[in-house]
Amino acid sequence: MSNLKTLKRQHHDLSDSTVQIGILEDDQHLYHLVPFQQKLEENNLFPLKTTGVEIFQVNVGKMCNQVCKHCHVDAGPDRKEIMTRDTMQHCLHALMQNPTLRTVDLTGGAPEMNPDFRWFVEEIKKLKRNVIVRCNLTIILANKKYNDLPQFFAQHGVEVVSSLPFYTRDRTDRQRGDGVFEDSIKALQMLNSVGYAKEGSGLVLNLVYNPAGAFLPPPQDVLEREFKHALNKDFGIHFNNLFAITNLPISRYLDYLLQSGNYEKYMEKLVVAFNPVAASNVMCRNTISIGWDGFLYDCDFNQMLELKVNTAQKHISHFNIHQLSNRTVIIGQHCYGCTAGAGSSCGGAIA
Ligand code: SF4
Ligand code: SF4
Repeated sequence: MSNLKTLKRQHHDLSDSTVQIGILEDDQHLYHLVPFQQKLEENNLFPLKTTGVEIFQVNVGKMCNQVCKHCHVDAGPDRKEIMTRDTMQHCLHALMQNPTLRTVDLTGGAPEMNPDFRWFVEEIKKLKRNVIVRCNLTIILANKKYNDLPQFFAQHGVEVVSSLPFYTRDRTDRQRGDGVFEDSIKALQMLNSVGYAKEGSGLVLNLVYNPAGAFLPPPQDVLEREFKHALNKDFGIHFNNLFAITNLPISRYLDYLLQSGNYEKYMEKLVVAFNPVAASNVMCRNTISIGWDGFLYDCDFNQMLELKVNTAQKHISHFNIHQLSNRTVIIGQHCYGCTAGAGSSCGGAIA
């Protein structure tokens, strides 16, 4: 059993864009696995540079109706961090000024719990951008004020991306809480009933799978076939694509790894499975992630680690597409989660 208690960010040196993560709380020794930077150097990928910015991912707040075991946001009903309309106005201004930002990906927490969520979606759609909402499904049934979300999404042509850890009750509820599976199934049926995943509707419904324990996801295409078959057979549910995502060793999932004594084994699995093709296509290379308070990050994970972008301007109120399109990504040991096996991103496997 490992004596690891808590991992802490040891230092954050912006001058050479390296971040070491992994000193033990009891200060015994540095985490011994190959630094992520070294892996990138060995594959001529360091420094990791962006290729442009196309995806504008906005975290509109950490409040959520669920408290999932593996949440990297540490979201829940008691979180108070919520994006204000003023910050959303800055986001809209950045979008207006930069037509190359084609896709706006709204995440949280449960993004729908932000009181300005619907207004924000409507304003983004006026700018003719694709909108993705990361909907946890159960929010649709959490309160009657959310019951019409499927109609709202359909009316605005929003792409819905929803986590469903598995197509059975026990595995889903174990990870996301009692009753989550049943409500998720009802919500999926509601989305199907307004046209989601129906051929010719143009309404896209994608599901997200992430492993329940300290292992990597199975091949995405195999899993997608399994999910499609089971959900259709048991509940008449249809969806478009399944994204298989690797859990990154941060936040609640890191706590789980440490408490269960699986941390070192899991990190070893990630390092052994390092895939240079995945590494050259990690999502931070064409994404900018905006935090609830308007600060800018390379991705949602760096956001949770409070590692702001390595550019002079770090806030949405000073959005500079040129700087952001030519930036060096801040990396750390957690990045191994994006580069293992088939790779992992908000859109699933990448290699
Ligand atoms: S994983 Fe998603 S649904 Fe679960 S607590 Fe985190 S933000 Fe909420
Ligand atoms: S965690 Fe993944 S997306 Fe974020 S900076 Fe690291 S490699 Fe890029």
